[in-house]
Amino acid sequence: MKNLKKIPPVDEIMLDEDIISLVRRYNRNYVVISLRQVLDEVRTELKLNDEELDREVIRSMVKQRLLREIRKNSKGTLQRVINATGVVLHTNLGRAPLGSRALEYMQDMGKHYNNLEMNLSKGERGSRYVHVEELLVQITGAEAALVVNNNAAAVMLGLNTMAAGREVIVSRGQLIEIGGAFRIPEVMKMSGATLIEVGTTNKTYISDYEAAINENTALLFAAHTSNYKIVGFSEEVKLEEMVKLGKEKNLPSMQDLGSGILCDLSSWGLRDEPTVQQCVNAGADIITFSGDKLLGGPQAGIIVGKKNYIEAMKKNQLTRALRVDKLIISALEGTLLEYLCGIPERNIPVLQMLTINMDELEAKAIKLSSVLQDKFSQSDKIESIKYVQVEDMVGGGAYPTYRIPGFGVEIKLRENNLEWISQELRLMEPALLTRRQEDKMLISVRTLLAGDEEKLVEMLYEVLEKKGENL
Ligand SMILES: *Cc1c(COP(=O)(O)O)cnc(C)c1O
Repeated sequence: MKNLKKIPPVDEIMLDEDIISLVRRYNRNYVVISLRQVLDEVRTELKLNDEELDREVIRSMVKQRLLREIRKNSKGTLQRVINATGVVLHTNLGRAPLGSRALEYMQDMGKHYNNLEMNLSKGERGSRYVHVEELLVQITGAEAALVVNNNAAAVMLGLNTMAAGREVIVSRGQLIEIGGAFRIPEVMKMSGATLIEVGTTNKTYISDYEAAINENTALLFAAHTSNYKIVGFSEEVKLEEMVKLGKEKNLPSMQDLGSGILCDLSSWGLRDEPTVQQCVNAGADIITFSGDKLLGGPQAGIIVGKKNYIEAMKKNQLTRALRVDKLIISALEGTLLEYLCGIPERNIPVLQMLTINMDELEAKAIKLSSVLQDKFSQSDKIESIKYVQVEDMVGGGAYPTYRIPGFGVEIKLRENNLEWISQELRLMEPALLTRRQEDKMLISVRTLLAGDEEKLVEMLYEVLEKKGENL
C-alpha cells in the first residue's frame, strides 16, 4: 500500500522534461488522457504487489508505459504484412499489391489538384467517369466502360439499371457466394430485380433459359463460378450460346466475370478462365469484374460493354453512391497503362508473381534457406531448415482448384511451439504470415516482395532467439 502513495500525480509527470518534449509532438489533451489511463493501470498493479518499490522506479515505470502507449496509439490499425503463404491474391491481406506506376499516379494526384471533374480543353465542368474509360475501351475492345467501388457494386448497378422490377434468368449452377457475403440471390434482391433460377445445380441447358423467357424477362445473367468448380456429370451454357439466345429474343446478356483477366496467362499454366476480351468478343452486352483480383490494381468494380447500357448506368442515381475517388482512378489508370503500353507480367506485382519462372523461384528459395541456415547455425531451437517444393495458389477466388508449383523454405522446430511462434510473428511490425504443414513452418517465396526476405530473417531471429529464450 505504501507504493500507492509514491505514484506521481498527473501535474508532476506533465512537468517532466521527456513528457514536455512529448507534448510538443502530440496533442496535450491526448497525452493527459493516456497518462490517466497508465496511472490507473499502474495503481491496480501496485495494489497486487507487496514488494515495496522506490519512488523513482515507479516514476520511470509510469513514464515508460506512457511513451509506449502513445507510440502504439498514434498509429492506425492498418499495418504491413509480409505474405509468406504463397497465396497471391490473399483476400484477407488486401488482395493485389499495387505496381509502381499505379503508386506514382496515386501520389501525384493525391498530393496535387487535378482534373477529376474538369474538362481542361473546354475549361468547364467535366465528368470523373471519362478518366479510365478510354483505356478500358482500348484494352478490352468494348464500346464503353464505367468504374465503381467494387465488383459487387458493379453487379448491383448493372442489375438495377437493366432489370429493376423485372426478371433475370440465372443458372442454378451459378448462384454463387463469394467471401464477404456476396450472394447472387441477395444482390439480385437488393437490386430490385427478380431472380428466375433455371436448370439444376450440375446441369443447365440453353433450352432451360429459353423456356423461362416471358414478357417480363429483362436480362440473361451468367456468374463466373470463380471459387468452386462443378466437375463430373455437369453442363453449363457457354456465354456465346446465351448471347445468341438473347439476340434472338431481343434480350441483353450480362456476365459477372469476377477476376478480370486482361492478358493471356495460358503459357504460364493459367488456363480455363476466360479473359475480358474473350467475353467482349463473345458478344456479352455487359461484363463486370474486380480491379484488385487478377487485374492487379486497386479495389474497383469495372463494367465494360455496350454503350447504351453503360450510358444508362452513368445516369442511375446509384452510381453517385457507388462512385470511386481520385486515388482509385489514378491507381487504376496507372495499372491499366501497364497493359496498354508497358510490360504487365513484369510490372504488375500480381502478374509478376504468377508468371515468375521456376528457376528464379527455386534460386530465391535456395538463397533464403541458406541465409536462414547461417543465421540459425548456433540455434538450439531449430531442428532443420531446408528448401522445398510447395504448392501455391492464385487466390481471390480465381482458379480455385489449381495449385501452382512453387518453392519455399521449411523450418522444423525442436519444440512443439509452432502455434506460439506463428502468433508472435503475426504480432510484429510488419506482421509475418507463414503457412503451416503438420508440425513444420513453410515460407513460400513466391509472394515475398522486395526486401521481405531480409526482414523475415530478422523477425524469425527476434522471435526464436530473443523472445523464445525462455522456452
Ligand atoms: C470476387 C467476385 C465478386 C465480388 O467482387 P468484389 O470486387 O470483391 O466486390 C463478384 N462476383 C464474382 C464472380 C467474383 O469472383
